[in-house]
Amino acid sequence: ARPVKISVHLHPYGEGRKLLLSRDITALEQAETMRRDFVANVSHEIRTPLTVLTGFVETLQTLPLDPQDRARYLGLMAQQSSRMQTLVNDLLTLSRLEGSPLPGMSEWTPVHVLMTQCEQEGRALSGVLMPAGAKPHRLHFGAAPDSDITGSQTELLSAMSNLVSNAIRYTPPGGSIEVKWQSLPDGRAEFSVKDSGPGIAPEHLSRLTERFYRVDRSRSRETGGTGLGLAIVKHVVQRHGAELRIESTPGAGSTFCIQFPASRLRPAAALRGLSSS
Ligand code: ADP
Repeated sequence: ARPVKISVHLHPYGEGRKLLLSRDITALEQAETMRRDFVANVSHEIRTPLTVLTGFVETLQTLPLDPQDRARYLGLMAQQSSRMQTLVNDLLTLSRLEGSPLPGMSEWTPVHVLMTQCEQEGRALSGVLMPAGAKPHRLHFGAAPDSDITGSQTELLSAMSNLVSNAIRYTPPGGSIEVKWQSLPDGRAEFSVKDSGPGIAPEHLSRLTERFYRVDRSRSRETGGTGLGLAIVKHVVQRHGAELRIESTPGAGSTFCIQFPASRLRPAAALRGLSSS
């Protein structure tokens, strides 16, 4: 059984009498602990690049540096600023997701638009992260079906590209990444990203979508991770009535799938007999 926390309060009640009021505050306490942890995590994540930046500013101000060293320091400072920028962007995305109304059914996006965007971003990221002379990733992007999906295009794209970006960031050079969209027999559709990366041990799987939860901290930081990507994916998935599935075998890679309900899908305009103009 889980421990329960009860708050007890004596309330004046009539003449000289008191009423004993008790309230279960377990959920309240848990929410408060989560809020405190979140603030501590955010502060820590911001403080690290800030400390590095302050150090470099001091160096630039006090030491006479030759132009080459100066350029190198400025490059490192740019890296830290961009890290903070990514973190702030992800935090804003999360807070918008938590505070905005659920995406309706009025905006429809062709699936191929989302798939093309994922492919372009994925190929670009893989190129940027690849060390010089390393064997490139084998990237395979499947064909998109002639269907549309309804919901927020921005949110859907951010969830899908987060999964692609993770696969690329965690898969070593020469590894393979396969991105697919397929219709399931029951009318649902599945977007999946399969990689041949390091895989994830079973004990981590249930915690991956927690904010700032990372299995491999250094790899996450090295490749520009904020620890918020899968938390964003989880929110978008829930807001679209979809399901996130993660299968992984340590040493043999991972597959992340988003399964969309049939109610969010329809055949593309041409197949519905409508003019696409
Ligand atoms: P991050 O910005 O650290 O990548 P995410 O929320 O996107 O944050 O992912 C949480 C953690 O899950 C990562 O730090 C990493 O340890 C693990 N992870 C996510 N995707 C993969 C993957 N494709 N292969 C191996 N580990 C992964």
